[in-house]
Amino acid sequence: MTTIGATAVLDRNGLNGLVAELMAGGRTVVGPTVRDGAIVLAVLDSAEQLPYGWGVELEAGRYRLRRREDEAAFAHSAGPQSWKNFLHPQREKLWSADRAPDGTVAISTETAERPSYAFLGVRPCDLRAIAIQDRVLTGGHFKDSGYEERRRGAFLIAAECTEPGATCFCVSMGGGPGADAGFDLALTEVIDDTGHRFFVRVGSEAGAELLARVPHREGDASTRDAAVSAVSEAVDKMGRAMPPVSLQQLMGSSLEAERWDDVASRCLTCGNCTMVCPTCFCTTTEEVTDLTGDHAERWQRWDSCFDLDFSYVHGGAVRASGRSRYRQWLTHKLGTWHDQFDSSGCVGCGRCIVWCPVGIDITEEAAALHEEAEARKKETDR
Ligand code: SF4
Ligand code: SF4
Repeated sequence: MTTIGATAVLDRNGLNGLVAELMAGGRTVVGPTVRDGAIVLAVLDSAEQLPYGWGVELEAGRYRLRRREDEAAFAHSAGPQSWKNFLHPQREKLWSADRAPDGTVAISTETAERPSYAFLGVRPCDLRAIAIQDRVLTGGHFKDSGYEERRRGAFLIAAECTEPGATCFCVSMGGGPGADAGFDLALTEVIDDTGHRFFVRVGSEAGAELLARVPHREGDASTRDAAVSAVSEAVDKMGRAMPPVSLQQLMGSSLEAERWDDVASRCLTCGNCTMVCPTCFCTTTEEVTDLTGDHAERWQRWDSCFDLDFSYVHGGAVRASGRSRYRQWLTHKLGTWHDQFDSSGCVGCGRCIVWCPVGIDITEEAAALHEEAEARKKETDR
């Protein structure tokens, strides 16, 4: 019998069967696939749509697809989207109101159907990001009911990292390329002389039930050892690292740092970093009416602390300069997030580095703030 903690091995056909079973059970399966020159997250009709044979080259402000010499499906790092695009979508209608000819107004809170998702290929950094969004959006006094509903029904299949990108730094954020919790099934892709296969670990009852319905074989020692060593080798392949200091303290002591002027001279305040970040959660609401004025809708949509309106308070924006907005983003993400949610707001996925149009690198900024703090300390000690 398949149980939590059990292991198994799936081949490519087995993975196809897994996706087919999920779909037959009414789930919308989302996973990585090649589209528009990138590996994006999209609804899949089959596991054959995974990016077999594709990898990526990442650098600050640069993303390129590249053909691989093997047929690996999960040997690529984070793309432009994260799972928040599905769990916490960019736009969602909250309610609508209709005025009848007699002047009475009827309010409807009917929302679009919320799919029962299965996410295939969730990276360990993204598992941590989902856990952070769970705390933010369902763990406090103000719950996001849409997120809560989508999250409650979601089935998560993790894909451990064996080839981190040049912009990855999860290890220095206390994470790593291995998946330790928060999944229903965890896959580790293995390609060696014995063939192309996926080592599977069962993380939940639902995962055990699904696996039992799919052709698989029991986990063998050689596949397990190959999977474990691929993940442990990935620890040393991180392209970047944060300075090895308390980032929370560093942010707290850097509020007047000169580096904010330097980064502000490069930052376009475009907000891309907040859009791609898997933990950024801020939203605003907007009302729209039709031309008759008899139908109105209220929508929730993503917002960004880089928008001038974000800090607008009766008559003006509190953070009017780019300097103050970048500082707000970084000090919240790495510093005050701990006070609010008991963790960092950064999981080290590297997306904000890749998708910043001017290549601003969060690890480089933190390192520069650290150097400046050290120089200040030396000056004071003299
Ligand atoms: S701040 Fe950047 S590296 Fe950290 S989680 Fe967000 S996008 Fe990823
Ligand atoms: S850091 Fe980069 S992505 Fe973020 S707002 Fe500035 S220019 Fe845009």
